[in-house]
Amino acid sequence: SNTSNHSNTAFFTKNTFQESYQEKILTGDRPTGQLHLGHFVGSLQQRVVLQESHQQTILIADLQGLTDNGHNPHKVSTNILNVLADYLAVGIDPSKTTISLQSAIPALSELTMYYSNLVSVARLQRNPTVKNEIATKSFGLSIPAGFLTYPISQAADITAFNGTLVPVGDDQLPMIEQTNEIVRKLNRIAKEDILLECRPLLSHVPRLPSTDGKSKMSKSLGNCILLDASEKDISQAVKSMYTDPNHLKVDDPGRVEGNVVFTYLEAFCSDVAYVETLKSQYRRGGLGDGAIKKILEDCLQEVIKPIRERRHLFASDKAQLIDIIREGSDKSQTEASAVLHRVKHAFGLTLF
Ligand code: ATP
Ligand code: MG
Repeated sequence: SNTSNHSNTAFFTKNTFQESYQEKILTGDRPTGQLHLGHFVGSLQQRVVLQESHQQTILIADLQGLTDNGHNPHKVSTNILNVLADYLAVGIDPSKTTISLQSAIPALSELTMYYSNLVSVARLQRNPTVKNEIATKSFGLSIPAGFLTYPISQAADITAFNGTLVPVGDDQLPMIEQTNEIVRKLNRIAKEDILLECRPLLSHVPRLPSTDGKSKMSKSLGNCILLDASEKDISQAVKSMYTDPNHLKVDDPGRVEGNVVFTYLEAFCSDVAYVETLKSQYRRGGLGDGAIKKILEDCLQEVIKPIRERRHLFASDKAQLIDIIREGSDKSQTEASAVLHRVKHAFGLTLF
């Protein structure tokens, strides 16, 4: 193999790599606001389960958050500990999951520099999620270079931790594809598999809509039910939800498809059979919007209450939050440095 040509620098061989192979999980969130119910069903719930069986790293992606907030960095910096408190509140346990901060792991930025030589600008412009985000963020002709290239930095994040399983919402599928293209290119250059391909893990709700049903629930669009929403916030959000505009009288037959209240009932109500009964009753006619909204509200109140209470406790101990993220980031820098070394080696840049 080509590594034998550089035997003093090659600490890594295919063999040792395979031996240390284990399915690893990498995910993350941009600290551009507090986390919301879309995160909860789209990704957080899975992470809480997976931490029991897998090595898992979760990245608070502050550098990625800056890619569309360069003019407003305060928004990102002030939300780092908010997102961390959200993780802890839903049950992500720092003794089982490594939680780290992207900007505190310089190896990630270095990897991004190397990978950016393997991706064309045209390829970045074709990325459907980036395209869609560019359109909604009204950058005009001033698209930040960092924004266009954030899928590359996401590839660095995933590969730096040998991530093979990535729990995400469906907007992230193009990023996984981009990552695997980079992995294959780099492995070709290295003439061996120094990086692993990854696959997405979609939840049963890969895209929770906003309460008006118009788009995905998203921090940047301000259409969220936050994980620490007050009773009143929840009640107001449910009352404002989009239902079936043609369902005017209680006795009218109603549509369940595209009806946000039912989408949420399916996502958050654990009694599947009960939701099915409600659906057929609504379709037949005789079930009012007020009634289904009340059922949903009770359900959401029950989901959010314990999260809100736990979050309040964690958020009140800032020193503890900082300790958690510092420890996680240190561990991550060590892991990511090993991958960076392999990548530098593939480019022949490990002279000393
Ligand atoms: P922003 O608007 O700043 O991009 P966001 O609300 O889209 O914020 P991200 O931090 O970009 O949140 O996404 C983190 C993870 O949560 C990703 O895996 C994403 O797919 C998932 N996610 C975000 N919103 C939803 C949603 N509405 N439904 C399901 N998954 C979601
Ligand atoms: Mg997003």
